[in-house]
Amino acid sequence: MIKLYNTLTRKKEEFQPINDKKVGLYCCGPTVYWFAHIGNLKSYIFEDILRRSLEYNGFKVNHVMNYTDVGHLTSDADTGQDKMEEGAAREGKTAWEIADFYIKAFEKDAQALNILKPSVIPRATDHIEEQIELIKKIEKEGFTYKTDDGIYFDTSKLKDYGKLAMLDEKGIRAGARVEMAEGKKSPTDFALWKFSPSGVKRQMEWLSPWGVGFPGWHIECSAMSQKYLGEQFDIHCGGIDHISVHHTNEIAQSEAAFGKIPARFWLHNEFLLIDSGKMGKSEGNIFTLKTLVDKGFYPLTYRYLNLTAHYRSKLNFTWESLEAAQRALNNLYQTLIEFPDSGKIDENYKKEFQEVINDDLDTPKAMALVWKMIKDKKISDADKKATLLNFDKILGLGLEKIKKTEIPEEIKKLADERQNLRKEKKWGQADQIRKQIEGAGWQIEDTEQGPKIIKK
Ligand code: AMP
Ligand code: ZN
Repeated sequence: MIKLYNTLTRKKEEFQPINDKKVGLYCCGPTVYWFAHIGNLKSYIFEDILRRSLEYNGFKVNHVMNYTDVGHLTSDADTGQDKMEEGAAREGKTAWEIADFYIKAFEKDAQALNILKPSVIPRATDHIEEQIELIKKIEKEGFTYKTDDGIYFDTSKLKDYGKLAMLDEKGIRAGARVEMAEGKKSPTDFALWKFSPSGVKRQMEWLSPWGVGFPGWHIECSAMSQKYLGEQFDIHCGGIDHISVHHTNEIAQSEAAFGKIPARFWLHNEFLLIDSGKMGKSEGNIFTLKTLVDKGFYPLTYRYLNLTAHYRSKLNFTWESLEAAQRALNNLYQTLIEFPDSGKIDENYKKEFQEVINDDLDTPKAMALVWKMIKDKKISDADKKATLLNFDKILGLGLEKIKKTEIPEEIKKLADERQNLRKEKKWGQADQIRKQIEGAGWQIEDTEQGPKIIKK
């Protein structure tokens, strides 16, 4: 039995998919106007662990993640500039080039973090027609009004708008300090379609029944989740900042159009903090995965660090904790290298591992179990290896790639030759041989214990 914490009910609930063994999973993807920072990446690591855990339990997961490449404004209150156009102005490229570039950058990071590729990765700009159709439906059901600035969703028409966030709508209305686009009737109303400002030719704009413009940020996820997963599916994920605006509005749109809440389970990932504050681009305190790699960390060290904290707790990033994670991961790799093959999975540990994972993805407990098993003298090293490789289907630490590298005889011979030349102080010739070794893909490291041959 899998239990997942559902933000909608604020409870851990038993998870059962709508269709027997198939799970429909929708994850809000990145806005591709800049590099993802490691806070963003925490969300995608969590979603990957969720997907792998469902697969471990025998479910077939249809994992959809979108790319937001239009319509996400610098303010969540439907004001400010489109982040894509902002990126284009910053870099002197078109908004389309910005999207392509940062999609590639995201995919590279995801791959380095062993995040499995979603089954479908739709782009908002490829689904403008679907979004227009959905807005037409919402309009037909009587949930919209027009302002000078666009077509807005009238949240007062829904009796329980804001239930996901447990928003006190009256409180929001009364405390009118919330930033508000002109013409909006209520601070919680939101744009479905925004008109291109008059006299301005946007790089990304389309003709619609209401005029030339672009979709609001929330409609893309409703349109694309419906297209790929249906009007109601199993799980919807995102960061906790999505609860009060983006996901609340997705729910409003689906309820208006289809009379249903789009997903049964809503899972939210807590923030990565730095110096006890949220890591974010506007906070100016971000690191990218490249920042970490440039400092000598493996990308998977960051994944390991994420596994040591529960996805629903805040994770405070420090270089010390990342160093500790790298030491632990190295230790795990070194331990595994020494273990022989052809063992079998230890069923008791496997059962315990599955239990902690199925308890709302308790990865810190899963990692504790990994180390407990490594120290357990009652199990053979070969069985430990087989069990660890099985756990890695969820952990994704690249354990199957850790192998003792056999050094070829001719490389060993060359290394001996080089050592003899060095003893005879024939530095030039010794260096030639070093180059030859390097050309063959190996490297010599001179340590206190003598020269060591390693794979380049
Ligand atoms: P964006 O690219 O801005 O749409 O954000 C992508 C994802 O990253 C969203 O699900 C956010 O909730 C999430 N996110 C943003 N900042 C952080 C952070 N500091 N820690 C964890 N997740 C974050
Ligand atoms: Zn979304």
